[in-house]
Amino acid sequence: MTIPENKYLDKLCKRGHDWNGTGKSLRFKSDRCCIICQKIKNINLAKTPKRKLWLEKYKSTEEYKERRREQRKRKGYKRSDKEKERDRIWEKKARDELRDLYIRNQLRKRGIYAENITPELMQQLIRLKRIEIKLKRQIMENNKCQIPL
Ligand SMILES: [Zn+2]
Repeated sequence: MTIPENKYLDKLCKRGHDWNGTGKSLRFKSDRCCIICQKIKNINLAKTPKRKLWLEKYKSTEEYKERRREQRKRKGYKRSDKEKERDRIWEKKARDELRDLYIRNQLRKRGIYAENITPELMQQLIRLKRIEIKLKRQIMENNKCQIPL
């Protein structure tokens, strides 16, 4: 039996979580907490009304969705065709509607990070960038119309 990374076997925890019949509890090396006890603790924490409300709100934000996407990318998560299609539609929508997140990513590509500057300044930059992109799109649209047939 291989012990998972960053964990070790130690005496049984006070709730008696026996790991695979070893008579011992699997614990995190970092804080020596039993992994099952920690899981229960996390679940209970997530159940408190305040936390629930916060999570619900947070899950509907674009930041959360973007984070999920990034997480999956890092883990090498393979998206199903349905998910790919959904992401594609979402990305197109974000681009078409010039959502904050899309613009923030554009700024990021140019080396401007929200971490480097104040949120207020980031908001202003996003506003300016939105205007710039809108203008560029208009110009492109106009040029398209002037191409002789
Ligand atoms: Zn335990």
